[in-house]
This record gives sequence, C-alpha cells and structure tokens, in this order.
Amino acid sequence: MGKIKWGILVVIMTVVAGIFFGLINEKKEFSDKEFLFDTYCTITAYGDDAEKAVVEAFSQSADIHSITDGFAENSEVSEINSAKAGIAIPVSDDLAEILTTVTEIENSSSRAFDSSIAPVVLLWNFGGEGRIPSEEEIKRAMAYVGDGKIVFDSNKKTVMKTDDNAKLDLGGAAKGYAGDKAVEVLKSFGVSGAIVDFGGNILCFGENPKSDDGKWRIGLQKPFAPTGEYDEKNVVELSEGAVVTSGTYQRYFDKDGKRYHHIIDPKTGYPANQTYSSVTIVTESSLLGDCLSTACFVLGRDAGQKLADKYGAQIIFL
Ligand code: ADP
Ligand code: MG
Repeated sequence: MGKIKWGILVVIMTVVAGIFFGLINEKKEFSDKEFLFDTYCTITAYGDDAEKAVVEAFSQSADIHSITDGFAENSEVSEINSAKAGIAIPVSDDLAEILTTVTEIENSSSRAFDSSIAPVVLLWNFGGEGRIPSEEEIKRAMAYVGDGKIVFDSNKKTVMKTDDNAKLDLGGAAKGYAGDKAVEVLKSFGVSGAIVDFGGNILCFGENPKSDDGKWRIGLQKPFAPTGEYDEKNVVELSEGAVVTSGTYQRYFDKDGKRYHHIIDPKTGYPANQTYSSVTIVTESSLLGDCLSTACFVLGRDAGQKLADKYGAQIIFL
C-alpha cells in the first residue's frame, strides 16, 4: 500500500475509534417519575448505576412521604395530630431532622413559617374543592396555632402538644427534606450527575452531560403559564444546589372573583396577601429552601430578602 493509502486508513481508524470510545463513554441516563407529596416527582440521573440509584432514591422519598403525610391514617404526623396534650411522643430520626430546621425557621421568621398551622389550613380544604371558612371558624382554629402549641425537644427527640387540638402541617417542608435525601442516595451510588424535581423543589449536582460546561440551568416557572414555561431572564445557573419555589399558582381556588391560595399568613389565618405570585430560594439544602420560600412568601419583599440574606440564600420574587 502506498503512503497516501496508509494515511487515509489511519485517519479512518482514528475516526472510528473516536466514535466508539465516544459512545461507550457517553453517560448512561435513567429517568423516572412518581406521584408523591401530592405532586409529580421526577429524578434523572447519569452513570452506570443510575437506575438502581433512582429506584432507591424514590423508595426513600416514599418512606418520608409516609412519615409526614397528615392525611394518611397511620403516619407519624397523623399519630401526633390525634395524640392528647401532655404526652412526650418519640419521633423518628427523619422527623427530628425536619423539625430541627422547621423550628429554626419558625423562630427566625417570627413564625411567618408555622408548622402548627394545620387546623387553619384544613378549614380551607385546598386539597379538595376549597371553601372559605367563616371568621368565627378561623378565630377558633387560630387558638390552636402558634408558639408553644407543639413543642419539639431536639435532645430527647420528642414532641409534646400543649393542646389536644394542635396539629402539625409539614406541607411546606417534607418535600424539601425528601429532595435532600434523594440527592444523598444518588450520591451514595456514585452517579456522575442528577437532577431531582419534586414539584417545584429542584435539586442538582455533578455534571450535566447535556450542557457544554456541565452546569445545570433551571428556568423559573412563569406564574399561571403552562407548566414548563419560563422567561429567559429567569434562569438559575448552578453546579450544585437547590432551587425551591412557593407559588400561589400551585394550589388555589377562585370564589366570587377572588383568588384564595394555600400559603397562609399565620398572623391572620387567611392566604398571605402579596403583590407577587411566587418566591424562589436558591440555597444548598432544599429543606431549608422549602421552609424559607414559604416563610419569605408570607413576610413580603423586604423582610423576605433579609431572611434569605441571613441564610446566604438567593431570593427571586415573580
Ligand atoms: P408547595 O407545597 O406547593 O411546594 P409550599 O412549600 O409553600 O408550597 O408549602 C405550602 C404548604 O405548606 C401548604 O399547602 C400548607 O400545607 C402549608 N402551609 C401553608 N401556610 C404555611 C405557613 N405559613 N407555614 C408553614 N406551612 C404552611
Ligand atoms: Mg415551602
């Protein structure tokens, strides 16, 4: 064979080898969707063990759901909610972890976030058709809400109610905690990168094989637009972290020309009255982000910004 032919052969071999190694090097992708926390949850992970990792991450998320679901008969939260006052109830490690952050944010937000809000939230029936409670009903329910009604002892890992009618609502925190757990599981399987989307609580880490620089770009949902629609100027770019949104468009009902949404101001018992439709928090932990997004929604722009700053979090009002 002449020199030129050898040369062509070498070039062809190099190209073929390049394609071959390119293909086997391509990260395996596995993605799945489950209905948990009353919303669709999606996990997409990359790497050899991506499938096993996602299955286990969902399994642990389902466990957290079954602990925290106040509507399930035998969940830990339901047992606390039906317990009498004055009894120290031991809590699981997961619940203790949630309550540690919840208590911290209750205190730092002057209880704009209040996990004892359940008696009021239940009156509004956001999980069903929705109804406007009477002022009298709200007043009565508010008597069971607030500081000291459900006391968490972080050393003994117990909770104790001081009123039979006090009830926990972890709707603003449990999904966030499950997201953190899911990421922990995915990392333990050694996946090279993943994105977790638990109904508005988004977490990512590692390499995004679909972007040139390996980073993740998360478009913030345009309030009241079809799901997935966002403005180019509202895209968060990050390598690792949590992007958590609380919005009025996720759960609301309209009555007599007025809109009633599911984020309640614990000072009034009525939906927090604000000029924006959503609050997004960008931080390391989605449990922290979940509590902060709800708290900051209630607090308003100035106090919300201050609270986010205290935790080194970015905050975006839309
Ligand atoms: P989403 O659940 O849609 O992600 P949030 O994280 O803001 O939104 O949580 C809202 C849920 O938290 C409500 O459905 C209710 O169960 C509960 N909740 C409502 N108001 C408050 C509040 N002020 N503090 C704590 N929890 C709240
Ligand atoms: Mg929240």
